[in-house]
Amino acid sequence: MTATDTPTTLQFTRTRLPVPTHLPVIITIDGPAGTGKSTVARLLAQRLGLDFLDTGAMYRAAAAIMLDRKIDPEEIGELVSAVMGADLHFDWTTDPPTILAWDDPMDHRIRQPDVTGAVSQVATIGELRQHMVRKQRVIAAQHPRLVTEGRDQGSLVFPDAEVKFYLDADPGVRARRRAEQLREAGNEVDVEKLREQILERDRIDSTRSDGPLICPRDAIRIDTSELDLDSVVTLLEKHVRDRIGALIASDGE
Ligand code: C5P
Repeated sequence: MTATDTPTTLQFTRTRLPVPTHLPVIITIDGPAGTGKSTVARLLAQRLGLDFLDTGAMYRAAAAIMLDRKIDPEEIGELVSAVMGADLHFDWTTDPPTILAWDDPMDHRIRQPDVTGAVSQVATIGELRQHMVRKQRVIAAQHPRLVTEGRDQGSLVFPDAEVKFYLDADPGVRARRRAEQLREAGNEVDVEKLREQILERDRIDSTRSDGPLICPRDAIRIDTSELDLDSVVTLLEKHVRDRIGALIASDGE
């Protein structure tokens, strides 16, 4: 690379340019339920010109397959082979990318309450997690400029990611935000019940033995309780641009 096409840190922090296209870059965003990770990850990816991977959608699709095929949750072998047979993949031409199973779009089904209620238990299954981790790494090989969000992305799936974030927020705030989204979609909500469900999901996610929810040691931890969406995305964007600028600068030394 010549000096003229090497952007400086200054240029990155001042402009809205995408991350240079020759750079593979993985950004992970982990955190508990209801912190707005998906929306933040999607907007951050848009601003930086990267792809966006919602790994929660993959576990939700597995839960939907279990429910819709009436697979007994104890029948782990049957569930894992059904999920493998479904060939979960994304249509990258939509924003956000649509998840498909057996080539059928699953985006509406995976947000339904029965799926949300079942998904964390399904996500404790070690064999299923291994399958998902493999798939996520294949996706990253095909989409090497990626913002990926979930529970184990920075800690386990992409330990060498260029930038790692951990988003957190007060459980009451998370429940109120979720309630607002559900109300906007025309649903009736009980905020206290939502709060309990969120805490129960966090408990299952952070106590399982495979890929538990943890804050990676080298992650930037951000509490979003007092921040609006735009401020969170802008903060993350700044961290990424600073970090990428520093990487490019050290690359050129
Ligand atoms: O992020 P979202 O709420 O869609 O995730 C649904 C569930 O999928 C989580 O509660 C968690 O149990 C599981 N999950 C996971 N690992 C990931 C992403 C999601 O276990 N990387």
